[in-house]
Formats: sequence, structure tokens, C-alpha cells
Amino acid sequence: MRKYELIAPCHFGVESVLKKEITDLGYDVLSVEDGRITFYGDEEAIARANIGLRTAERILIQVGSFEATTYDELFEGTKALPWEDFIQKDGKFWVAKAASVKSKLFSPSDIQSIMKKSIVERLKEKYHVQWFDETGESYPIRVFIMKDKVTVGLDTSGDSLHKRGYRKLTAKAPIAENLAASLIMLTPWNKSRILVDPFCGSGTFPIEAAMMAANMAPGMNRNFTAMQWDHIVENDLWKDCMLEAREEIDHTAEPDIQGYDIDEYMVKISRENAKLAGVDHMIHFQQRSLDQLSHPKKYGFIITNPPYGERLEEQENLPTLYRTLGERYSQLDAWSLFMITSYEKAEEMIGRKADKNRKIYNGMLKTYFYQFLGPRPPKRNG
Ligand code: SAH
Repeated sequence: MRKYELIAPCHFGVESVLKKEITDLGYDVLSVEDGRITFYGDEEAIARANIGLRTAERILIQVGSFEATTYDELFEGTKALPWEDFIQKDGKFWVAKAASVKSKLFSPSDIQSIMKKSIVERLKEKYHVQWFDETGESYPIRVFIMKDKVTVGLDTSGDSLHKRGYRKLTAKAPIAENLAASLIMLTPWNKSRILVDPFCGSGTFPIEAAMMAANMAPGMNRNFTAMQWDHIVENDLWKDCMLEAREEIDHTAEPDIQGYDIDEYMVKISRENAKLAGVDHMIHFQQRSLDQLSHPKKYGFIITNPPYGERLEEQENLPTLYRTLGERYSQLDAWSLFMITSYEKAEEMIGRKADKNRKIYNGMLKTYFYQFLGPRPPKRNG
């Protein structure tokens, strides 16, 4: 087994939950930066992190890092890295993504082509060949340059980890699965508490919560790029880790999770997605508009992503919609409300200031995660 530095990017603002997930998996966190966590792990960690982390965007092996303010330095720094440890002679390799912040080098296409040339030079010397056919496995490379420090990673995931494989059909503005999971994990919700999403769309919040309740790993039903790298992570190791994840599912979990949407078609999609995820028996989906929201029990959670006016005609309805949400919420007994929105008058219309609020970047869109906290249920005797 070899020790790697593994990099897990995530949404800006949810680093704390990813850090906890990594620690819970049993790995040591090396650093926490904005939108990115670095931790130590071996080959097994690569498989277990890809299969098990709910809030990461992907898992990269850090190939190396160095300073560069000129393209010559970028070329030399890249060439000095041990590419032959990873990329096989017939491998297909390319810089899939280059990002640069506060650095001299900033043109993604130049960074990409120079690094590619540099890796080719390195591998020519190591493999003693002049030409690479690149007919073998894929090795997508990602690079970020922060204040002239270049960090180079090899992407072990391929498709972003938010793609669990269950969301074949989506709403107009679906929330990314890993962001939904992160937000749920930022709340005190647990499987013994009621969860309602009154704007469920394609069902992302209820489905992610149900998967958590049943301890169902998010990556059990998909593939990862590193599954093709038998020389780094053996095939049997992947099989063992997938099996481990299956064995850990709690088939007896009976959480109380409900998803509602005014749109009948969205309810149908939610049901189909939940079925694909294998959690349809744990969620009650129903067509229902917000003004019918009520619940007889105490101490529930609303976790939701209300419309925030992506389209002009929706914007007119926002004040009424959020006012209704505030009214319906105030009728519930001892509930908590958590919502992510970019609508700047959310609190004003709801009629109450949030107890907490956290800035979250949903892609390029700045949103807030408002948290209205209800009381805790009394501790049960015994
Ligand atoms: N989080 C969801 C997306 C929610 S989009 C996902 O990941 O797919 C907002 C949803 O609110 C839409 O599906 C829309 O149909 C629904 N909606 C709009 N007005 C509503 C109302 N008054 N009552 C209930 N649902 C409503």
C-alpha cells in the first residue's frame, strides 16, 4: 500500500461537513482550504472515498505541487513530477481542467497545452518512445494555481461525484446531490426526526436524506475512472469496497420523510428517482401545494430549496410564496426550517430573522442557507 495525498474539492461553504465525513471514514485531514480538503490515504482510501463521500465533488491524487510564474517554470515543474508512476505507456492523458486564482499564469488553454507537452516529454524519456498512441486507459488531470502555487491532481472519479446515478430526470433547477447532502448534514436532522421538503422538485433532498438514514453509500451504483487503473487500485479492492458498502446498508431503517410539489409531473419524477436510488419505500411523495402544508406531529424539519425567481414571471410570485411559507411554518409545532435561496427578501417575507445563515456558492450563484431553529424534543426516559 502506498500513501497518497488525496484532494477532495467541494462546494464553497460546506468544507466542515466534508471534513467530518473524511474523518469518519477514518482518514487524517492534512489541510482545509476554501472549497477543497486534502487528506492522507492509500489505495483503499481512493475507493472508499469515491464510493462513500456524500459531499465531495471528486477525488484527486495529488501528483505534486510547485511554484510557477512563467510558462517555462510551469513546463519544468510539471516535467519534474513522477508521471510514470501513474500513467501507463498506452495511457490517454490530458489536462481536463485548469483553474487559476490571483496568479501570473491564468490562461486555461495555455496552461493545459504546456502541461500536456511537458508530460509527453517526461514520459518519452521514461518509456523510451517517441510517440504515444494513447489507446489505453484515461488519466484526466486537473490543475489549480493559487497565488502562483501550482497543484496538480489526477482525477480518480471521472463524472463528478454528485452524479450518483439515480437522477435520470430532473427539475428545472435541481440542486446538486452533493450540495443537498451537505446542507442536510449542516442541520441537526437525523433519521429519528421528520423531514419534509414542500418544494421537492426531482426529490433530491428526500432521496439524499433517505440514503443517509439507511447508511446507503452514494457511489455504490456508478463507476469511477480509477476502476480502470488496476496498477494503482486493484480490481479486487474495488470489489471489496463495493461489497463492504452493500453490507453496511441498514434495511430496517424507517425514516419519516415526505416530499411535496405543486407540479404533478415533478412528483412522478421524484418517485422514479427514489426507485432508482432504492429508497422509494422510505419516502412519501405527493402532489400538494405549499398552502396545504401542515403536520400533526411536533419537532419536524423542513429542508428545502424554494423557487428563487430564475425566471422573470416567477419573481412576481416570490413575495406571496415566501409569505405563505412563513405562515405555514408558524402553524407547525416546534419545527425547524432550513432553506437555501438567493432571494434577498426571503427573511423579510417569511417574517422572521433566521437564527443562523450561511453563505453557500451554488456554482457561480451566491445563495444563503437560512436556518430557523425549533426546540429540541425532550430526552426520552431510559
Ligand atoms: N430541490 C429540487 C428543485 C426545487 S425547484 C430538486 O433538486 O429537484 C422548486 C420546486 O418548487 C419546483 O419543482 C416547483 O414545481 C415547486 N413549486 C413552485 N411553487 C410551488 C408551490 N406553491 N407549492 C409547492 N411547490 C411549488
